Amino acid sequence: MIRLFGVRVRLSPLFLIVILFAYFGHVLDQVAILFAVVIAHEIGHIFAAHRFGIKTESIELLPFGGVAVMRGRLGFDVREETLIAAAGPFVNLLFVIATLPLRASGVLSEAWTNSFVSINLSIALFNLLPALPLDGGRIARAGLALTRGYHSATKVVTRVSFLVAVVLMGIGGISLVLGYADLGIFALGLFLLYSAFSLHRQSRYETLRFLDALRHQQMATPRPIRSMLAQEDMKLGDVASQFSPGAYHVIYVQSTYPKEPRPVTQDEILDAIFESSGWTLPLRALLS
Ligand SMILES: [Zn+2]
Repeated sequence: MIRLFGVRVRLSPLFLIVILFAYFGHVLDQVAILFAVVIAHEIGHIFAAHRFGIKTESIELLPFGGVAVMRGRLGFDVREETLIAAAGPFVNLLFVIATLPLRASGVLSEAWTNSFVSINLSIALFNLLPALPLDGGRIARAGLALTRGYHSATKVVTRVSFLVAVVLMGIGGISLVLGYADLGIFALGLFLLYSAFSLHRQSRYETLRFLDALRHQQMATPRPIRSMLAQEDMKLGDVASQFSPGAYHVIYVQSTYPKEPRPVTQDEILDAIFESSGWTLPLRALLS
């Protein structure tokens, strides 16, 4: 077990397999560069998260990046989420830029520079694919969550993740048929497919986690109010599923009598969901 700035770092079995293959294929030096680049990418995330007061508990290192477990308001503030997610690929980009003058002045060899640059670019580009749990998927979800709500944004990005996974596996499959077997791409697709399935299975839990964070968020700065209009028989869970990060929600409930919509606040809805198991209760239950 490695510790990095107090963060537990675990090597995934997939990385161990890559190291084993590299050992027998005599390309251990390439894997050492890959390992260092992946660690640097993760340090980018850890530092950005730390700046926003979010603690990274552990990281599982995969051959193409890491999956971090962070504690705190993650996914909750669109700006923070975007900056934390972008920090990893940003480090790779900085590495590429820093390498160029060193290569030009002859400090680095051409072969070394080529493999270092291509490893950095592939790690950055792969992680920017709009699939969860990759950085690109997190940025896409954060952006979509502003207008569609967190739950719906997660669902959309999960669907895109399935698509990206199938495309990568397809490319891997075609490469196999054409005789230059790119099993790496196939494995990446498989990893994304597995991630998309587990995300799909945990989607309700993920939404509850977000709603719980929304419920406990401190009002440090003024927040915009997002108002919605809903029918009185709409379930509290369905309403809360449309809540967005960074906003305070007021729902105007429409009933047959009286005709004027009456306001119900986000707090009333979330309290009912978490304290009285009110996920399936109709909005009507909150009207006095
Ligand atoms: Zn990343």
